[in-house]
Amino acid sequence: MDKILKGIMIYRATVKEGMVKQFVKIKDNPTPKAVFFTCIDSRMIPTRFTQTNVGDMFIVRNAGNLVPHSQRFPDEQDTNEPAALELGCVVNDIRHIIVCGHSDCKAINLLYKLRDPEFASKDNRRLSPLRSWLCTHAHTSIEKFNELQAHDFNKPLLFQAETPLRKFVAYIDPDKKFNIEDRLSQINTLQQLQNIASYGFLKKRLEQHQLHIHALWFDIYTGEIYYFSRAAKRFVIIDENNFKKLLQEVVVFYS
Ligand SMILES: [Zn+2]
Repeated sequence: MDKILKGIMIYRATVKEGMVKQFVKIKDNPTPKAVFFTCIDSRMIPTRFTQTNVGDMFIVRNAGNLVPHSQRFPDEQDTNEPAALELGCVVNDIRHIIVCGHSDCKAINLLYKLRDPEFASKDNRRLSPLRSWLCTHAHTSIEKFNELQAHDFNKPLLFQAETPLRKFVAYIDPDKKFNIEDRLSQINTLQQLQNIASYGFLKKRLEQHQLHIHALWFDIYTGEIYYFSRAAKRFVIIDENNFKKLLQEVVVFYS
C-alpha cells in the first residue's frame, strides 16, 4: 500500500493538473472510441500500450478476459460484462469492442489444466471461484482447443463474429511460435467475439454494421501486440511492416 500512496503523491505533483484539464475538455462532449475487454493481469496496462488517454476507452477487466455467453444468464441474472457492453455500446454509442488476450495468462494456464475432469470437479469448483468462473464461462474455448488439438493444430477454426452469417476462419499460431497454453489463450480471445454477439440488445447494431468486434493479443515475452486480421485469417503483429495493411483493413471494413 505504501507504493500506492507514494504513487498518488507523485501523481498529484505531476500529471494531476493536466488530467483535470482533460476531464473538463471532454465533460460535455465525451467520445469514447472503444469498449476494451482484457485480463486483470498486472502486466497488462492497455492505456499505455495503446497510448490512449482520458475519455478514449471503457475498460473491463476480469480473469482471462472473458465475456460470458448470454445463454448463461436466464431471467435477468446478469453480470458485469454485459452491463458494461450496454453502458458502452448502447448508452454511450461506442462503435468498437476490443477483446485483448495475452501470453502467459495465469487464468488461461489454469483453464488448460481444467481439461482434467477431476481437477474441474464440482467439489473443486466449489472451493475455487476462479476454477468455477473459468469452467462456467470458458468451456467453449476448451472445446475449440480440443478440436484443434485433435487435428494436430493444423486445421483452421471457424468462429462467428457480429452475426451468424459473418463467420471468420482462424489459423492459430501457424508459425508454431507459441506454447500450448498461449494457443489456448488466442482461441479464448477469439471465442469472446462470438460470446459478445450473443446479446440481443446489441443485435440490431451488429446487423447494421454500426458496431464492430475486434481481437488483440499481447505477447508478454516480447511486448509485441497482434491484431486478428480476418483477411489474413490469423493474428498479425502490429509493426512497421504490417501497419498500413492493417489500418486499411480496419478502415475499409469497420469504419
Ligand atoms: Zn491473464
